[in-house]
Amino acid sequence: MPTLLDGKLVRDAILNELRPRVAKLAAEKRPPGLVAVLVGNNPASEIYVRNKVKACEEIGMVSTRQMPTTDVSTEELLFLIQSLNQRPDVDGILVQLPLPGQVNEREILLAVDPLKDVDGFHPMNSGNLMANHAGFRPCTPAGVMRLFEHYQIPIAGKHVVVVGRSDIVGKPMALLLLHANATVTICHSKTADLAGECRRADILVAAIGRPAMITTDFVKPGAVVIDVGINRLRERRQVESIFHGSQAKLAAFDKGNNVLVGDVHPDVFPLTEAYTPVPGGVGPLTIAMLMSNTVQSAEWRLGV
Ligand code: NDP
Repeated sequence: MPTLLDGKLVRDAILNELRPRVAKLAAEKRPPGLVAVLVGNNPASEIYVRNKVKACEEIGMVSTRQMPTTDVSTEELLFLIQSLNQRPDVDGILVQLPLPGQVNEREILLAVDPLKDVDGFHPMNSGNLMANHAGFRPCTPAGVMRLFEHYQIPIAGKHVVVVGRSDIVGKPMALLLLHANATVTICHSKTADLAGECRRADILVAAIGRPAMITTDFVKPGAVVIDVGINRLRERRQVESIFHGSQAKLAAFDKGNNVLVGDVHPDVFPLTEAYTPVPGGVGPLTIAMLMSNTVQSAEWRLGV
């Protein structure tokens, strides 16, 4: 029987570990502070930021939003970031992506003080990750590593295949696994024989953004399968086909007009030794790791 790797359970374990650290910081110095910079009114970004702010407040951190208007210029945003870099009460700066087209995203991410870059997107933190030096790690792959740790899934010597090579998920995931002594293959849209590469994996990580793309012919029986993808199905017939007419999924679709699915087809799960569901797998860990990075930042800054 495959083990369901429960991201909510691991998230709760992370938050339970953070609460006393936040309380200690608040008692001895001040609570950790996170500022989220949210530009414009992208509904998905608004939900992400709201959830992040709420989660921080729930464990006693101070979390605020800065919301420049959609027509903000690169210079205005740089000015905001520089003022946040200088504020002694701010331990973490989170710039919610995507930024509007007129803003130079690279310049903005470069402007964030690497010691407050709790998303781990600054090139200095990417370099630290590459060299396996201390620094902030991108939250989603760091969350997957916590999941492996929590469920005591051995990594050293395993062959791991990561599908996806983005700077925020695929590449840092591959590096973290490499530092944990896995043998890592990175696949992408130009990989020849993707299914064949994936079938060699003891651990398969899918970070693609294509609904249910990883089907049973991509998976070696008994592999551990981590599904990072979050895809929204907006057509009833897609839900019907992927979930084989599941009444529960169709009812959910009829109620909300969409249903979430990962990059891994649900038919894969019975073949695996362990797998992450969508929702409830990797998703909950991302915010928890953002909070963990912010607490770590406050501890470094305040010497606690
Ligand atoms: P990107 O779009 O930046 O990267 C997708 C990667 O998948 C690229 O490297 C791309 O290859 C590869 N890819 C796309 N199509 C194929 C294909 N047909 N075959 C093989 N590889 C392919 O996405 P992200 O990395 O930002 O996110 C990936 C997924 O993870 C998304 O569904 C996203 O919503 C989800 N996500 C979930 C998070 C969570 O908290 N659980 C957090 C962040 C993301 P190439 O480089 O060649 O184009």
